[in-house]
Amino acid sequence: MLQDQLESPYHELSVLSVIEKFNSNLEAGLTAEEVAIRYETYGWNQLPIKPGKPAWLRFLLQFNQPLLYILLVAGAVKAFLGSWTNAAVIWGVTVINATIGYVQEAKAEGAIASLAKAVTTETTVLREGQTLRIASQDLVPGDVVLLASGDKVPADLRLLKTRDLQVDESALTGESLPVEKSVQPLPKDTPLAERINMSYAGTFVTFGQGTGIVIATADATEVGQISQSMERRVSLSTPLTRKFEKFSRTLLYVILTLATLTFAIGLGQGESWIYMFEAAVALAVSAIPEGLPAVVTITLAIGVNRMARRNSIIRKLPAVETLGSATVICSDKTGTLTENQMTVQAICAGGQHYLVSGSGYSPKGDIGIARNGKLESPLEDGLPSVLQECLIAGVLCNDSQLKQTGENWSVVGDPTEGALIAAAAKADLSQSGLAASKPRLDSIPFESQYQYMATLHDVHPRTIYVKGSVEALLSRCSSMMDLQGQSIALEQSEIEQAVEAITEGGLRVLAFARKIVGSHQHSIDHEDIATGLVFLGLQGMIDPPRPEAIAAVHACQSAGINVKMITGDHIATARAIAQRMGIQKTEQVLAFEGRQLAKMENSQLAQTVEDGDVFARVAPAQKLQLVAALQSKGEVVAMTGDGVNDAPALKQADIGIAMGKGGTEVAREAADMLLTDDNFASIEAAVEEGRTVYQNLRKAIAFLLPVNGGESMTILISALLARDLPILSLQVLWLNMINSLTMTVPLAFEPKSNGLMQEPPRNPKEPLITGKLLRRILIVSLFNWILIFGIFEWAKSTYGDITVARTMAIQALVAARIIYLLSISQLGISLLKYIGRKSTSVTNAPILIVGILGAVILQIIFSQWNVMNLLFQTAPLNLNQWLICLLPMLPMVPLAIFINFINRPQTKSVNHR
Ligand code: ADP
Ligand code: MG
Repeated sequence: MLQDQLESPYHELSVLSVIEKFNSNLEAGLTAEEVAIRYETYGWNQLPIKPGKPAWLRFLLQFNQPLLYILLVAGAVKAFLGSWTNAAVIWGVTVINATIGYVQEAKAEGAIASLAKAVTTETTVLREGQTLRIASQDLVPGDVVLLASGDKVPADLRLLKTRDLQVDESALTGESLPVEKSVQPLPKDTPLAERINMSYAGTFVTFGQGTGIVIATADATEVGQISQSMERRVSLSTPLTRKFEKFSRTLLYVILTLATLTFAIGLGQGESWIYMFEAAVALAVSAIPEGLPAVVTITLAIGVNRMARRNSIIRKLPAVETLGSATVICSDKTGTLTENQMTVQAICAGGQHYLVSGSGYSPKGDIGIARNGKLESPLEDGLPSVLQECLIAGVLCNDSQLKQTGENWSVVGDPTEGALIAAAAKADLSQSGLAASKPRLDSIPFESQYQYMATLHDVHPRTIYVKGSVEALLSRCSSMMDLQGQSIALEQSEIEQAVEAITEGGLRVLAFARKIVGSHQHSIDHEDIATGLVFLGLQGMIDPPRPEAIAAVHACQSAGINVKMITGDHIATARAIAQRMGIQKTEQVLAFEGRQLAKMENSQLAQTVEDGDVFARVAPAQKLQLVAALQSKGEVVAMTGDGVNDAPALKQADIGIAMGKGGTEVAREAADMLLTDDNFASIEAAVEEGRTVYQNLRKAIAFLLPVNGGESMTILISALLARDLPILSLQVLWLNMINSLTMTVPLAFEPKSNGLMQEPPRNPKEPLITGKLLRRILIVSLFNWILIFGIFEWAKSTYGDITVARTMAIQALVAARIIYLLSISQLGISLLKYIGRKSTSVTNAPILIVGILGAVILQIIFSQWNVMNLLFQTAPLNLNQWLICLLPMLPMVPLAIFINFINRPQTKSVNHR
């Protein structure tokens, strides 16, 4: 039916004839058998994933690095000079390097791509008369899809019903304003952008609700026809890797200049040009940290994996780095800082306060009059009619359901609404009973910008029930219902006092109202409830803070990160929760309302946002301003969001965080990171991992560069003094590639250091190589130079064999390096504490031990195996010589301790900056 040559396109047909054409049903959707049959015909609703660059090309691109150019050229010159073994080894090393790079890159990309795939897009569909959430890829033509604001349109749809439906079609048509949709048939020649009775895959619902029938899936959709496949390549490029690329390019020029100079000076001094060529190549090869790019990629990829294990899915790799420098986290309240497990505990109706007992969503519990803060015996002579109306309003003006599995009650839908159903059930008002006796005719769904929801019911007389925030409702009420059910004048101040009494305890308050309308009314609009509502009462529900979020807030604060709460909720509720969670810089929680912020000019706003702890009744559009204001103060901002209107703020934030469970598709697409458990504690964990990534990169640099430094100093000085080179270019390659990689990769797996979350955030402008790091690199480089030069010259004069002398110099360097590696790693630090009896445990670091053992075995092969002797011009050592090579480990111990001491982190008190 889809491939049929159609005389009329779907937008020209009436709703009924489209449904008929697809043999579907507006009330019940498709049957399971029908879905199975169509699934056979049409397959998954998924665009094929575009193949990336072919493997051979990606492999070749690995050679596109400054270092490898040098090596390739050096190999060619050696070959030209007739040293074929040399040339083969140099080229062999470039191939090994490219292979490692290729494998690492593929693994890292695979890891990120599979995380992205794990986050499937879901859609709401009507099948066999039931509303289900299914993965969008399971849709078939003829399925009836329900759209709500925030949804991504899962397939091409002909709309059947709309309610204020607005869709952002910019992805398809380039039109940036949302398009208002309707269902009337349109002329045949209507262009795509004007087919307002259609909705296309890949676009976003920004407002309202709608129902549509799937007319095309997968490649048959409009986007499918344009692109035929989906770009799902992940980019491994981040600010840090770009910095590295720039760094290595600069290094290349410096080295080339230096090598050329050395070459020229040597020739001028009458050295043979073969000797000088060897020196120049060795210098170039020694100065470049060959292992570094691989280590950076590995470290980032490990960070991504660790975050995923702690419930944060990274969507954009740069976020891994940014997380470590976050200075402010702006978090949602409901569901992120709190449990989102709501239970109504207080009701105020007709001027009377009631308490509600029981917990969770179970209907067990009573409603009674409050006396001295205690629940007085349950109501005996029936419910006062105003209380009953208030409860009924909560159940009818409601899109959620409660579900019982064994003893457990849970909510399907919005927890706020679930709490209202449970409260009514405690007064024996059942949802199914009410739905049957007062059928719903129409509804206006909850949108956070309006802060209310309304439904129209077919009762006598016809009634609209409204629930929402106190502010939104009171301004629309003209009277209120008293205990006897009579309509009396609205006592605004009395209601406000009641609100205050309930919110003080941190309860979330909802207000309820109703309006009687004429029996001719079938639908409702925002205007119908703009005035003349009768106020029914208030219900207050607890939403306790998550205990782990409280701990996480403290952890953030001691890490110098400010936590701010941004919520659509009432200011008093927000303040009470913030106080309980310790979200405050001073004694008192500093709270502001959205409308106060709206009146401020920029500089005042920036200061207020910087100082404030809680921002209540914030409209989604204001979140963007809040982020920008903080950024203008130099803050690095992480911001959470879940709604459609949060997307601009998520994009503006340095780290946009979307909710994996509760969030809309729009928010997810805009975000850098997803929380799979919607929990604030996961943000804190991600920050911790982000810091660890940086810490480990610095460790890798601190470990790698001194060897490069020592080698190049050795070669430069020896060449200029016209002495025998203590180390040859091939041997440098061995050290920088094979030995460095085996010993550095374990550093990427290092656990976080103890003080990591006690230090202030890293300044994002701070260079990667700080003064301290540079000092460390220089000192150890100098040590390494003395070591190589000293051992070589001593062994040369003692044994009179230059090959043995070179081999010993290299083995001694690696021996000292093992001690240095331990001094950088957590393992070494914990060992030292253990020896000093300051700690009872040694940090378990099996990977590090494997790395060291691997390096030792490779070094033994390097000098004892005759093939290696041939390839790398080494010589087997005897036991005596081996023992001498171990000697430099001794001076390295005090040196490493000394450097760790002068470089120890300054412990600043960062609490409440
Ligand atoms: P939060 O930032 O705490 O998630 P929301 O934006 O979800 O706040 O809600 C803001 C206010 O809107 C709430 O304080 C409440 O008064 C009202 N509200 C929330 N959910 C609903 C709902 N389902 N129906 C009607 N009103 C609601
Ligand atoms: Mg919310």
